[in-house]
Amino acid sequence: MAARILLENLVIPGCGDERRPASILLEGERIAAVAGPEEEVAADRRVDLGGALVLPAAIDLHVHFDDPGFTHREDFATGTRAAAAGGVGCIADMPCTSVPPVTSVENLRTKLAVIAPKARVDFMLWGGVCAQVMGESGWEERLGELVEEGVGAVKVYLLSGMDSFGDLTAGQLRTVLAVAGRLGVPVGVHAEDRELVLELTRDIREAGGDGPLDYAASRPAEAEILAARTVVEAVRATGSRAHVVHVASAGAMEVLSRARKEGLPVSAETCPHFLAHTVEDLERLGSLLKTAPVVKTAADREELWRGLAAGEIALVASDHAAGVWPDEKTTGSIWTDYGGVPGVELLLPFLYSEGFRRGRLSLERLVEVTATAPAKLLGVGGFKGRIAPGFHADLAVIDEKVRWTVRAADLHNKNRYTPLEGWELTGRIRETWVRGRRVFWREGDHGRFAEPHGRWIRRGEGT
Ligand SMILES: [Zn+2]
Repeated sequence: MAARILLENLVIPGCGDERRPASILLEGERIAAVAGPEEEVAADRRVDLGGALVLPAAIDLHVHFDDPGFTHREDFATGTRAAAAGGVGCIADMPCTSVPPVTSVENLRTKLAVIAPKARVDFMLWGGVCAQVMGESGWEERLGELVEEGVGAVKVYLLSGMDSFGDLTAGQLRTVLAVAGRLGVPVGVHAEDRELVLELTRDIREAGGDGPLDYAASRPAEAEILAARTVVEAVRATGSRAHVVHVASAGAMEVLSRARKEGLPVSAETCPHFLAHTVEDLERLGSLLKTAPVVKTAADREELWRGLAAGEIALVASDHAAGVWPDEKTTGSIWTDYGGVPGVELLLPFLYSEGFRRGRLSLERLVEVTATAPAKLLGVGGFKGRIAPGFHADLAVIDEKVRWTVRAADLHNKNRYTPLEGWELTGRIRETWVRGRRVFWREGDHGRFAEPHGRWIRRGEGT
């Protein structure tokens, strides 16, 4: 029988902002029981957590760990190290930012052989469909095989910045949604209107614009709103489940929210950078904060927080995408500078501090948007994302009173920069557990890591 470890003297989230004193019994990889503080529980080993808050480890369903192929930016060892240090117990890696892309089972296995030995936290894989894939016969079968193999969801772009992973027309999106719907897997959509962004970009560049605000002007909220409508129409036509990734504007959120109230199976995600920053920050920080979509106004930011609390946005993911720092962020032009920021390590600390501690999210909602909702979307909600008997023992232990300052140099991923540099956050990740093993812990200011223990998690495995 597996060793029984009792984590005791801790609190877990209850309803609303309630904290419940508890102890958690781990047996092997799973949670065997959640007991009250006074209950006698037999165990082989006891760990006193000193009253710390224990949350389900976060599930970051949107990261680009670039492995294999772009490992000068990130790789699975460094990416999952940062995840572990940030209380993230499972990540889902995007299909487009590795070579080969995850567009067939053969490619998936090639990638898996490279990344699996390096993983410090559990990981899932997105499958992808791009213009190139749809140009080949038999792509539907290949997508079926990918789903059969266990990808968590399928990623497509309505506007792609990558030559190697072309964007889809509205008609193609509808076709992919129809196929994915039959296969029982959701489609994640990068939703910005291609024509509008390309036209604005051309006009602004021709007029000599080359500043952060010019970049922002090339990707207005209107581009997100138009594309969100395109997604909604495709969902309405097919009845298939779609998830719009990295929503940055109140307008797009509203389009999606209205569709969901109509009963359509569509959801939205946002990212910490859209909850933290505005176009004024972009003007100040320049390419450091360059992302696609781009940050919007202060009014958008406040509306995203409101929608997140109210359930209009289902979840938060980091969209972790690190360029080579500083080279790829200082090419001499905003248009050629790399778009993306690393974020997996700060996702949970940011939301705990700026969401829960500032009264924008209840503790219960914090757990939903960082763990429960992403687990459900990826088809692993029956065994990940909750502290409950039978679930994977994936836990984030938080020192609630610690105030600390974000320093890029202290992060654990490969290219270290962050638009959150200098932010004072309350609450620090002390330990991260993945399937019953402590994979990260802090000794003073230093992070310590166990040997890689992460494994590939398949959509719906064991059900
Ligand atoms: Zn992304």
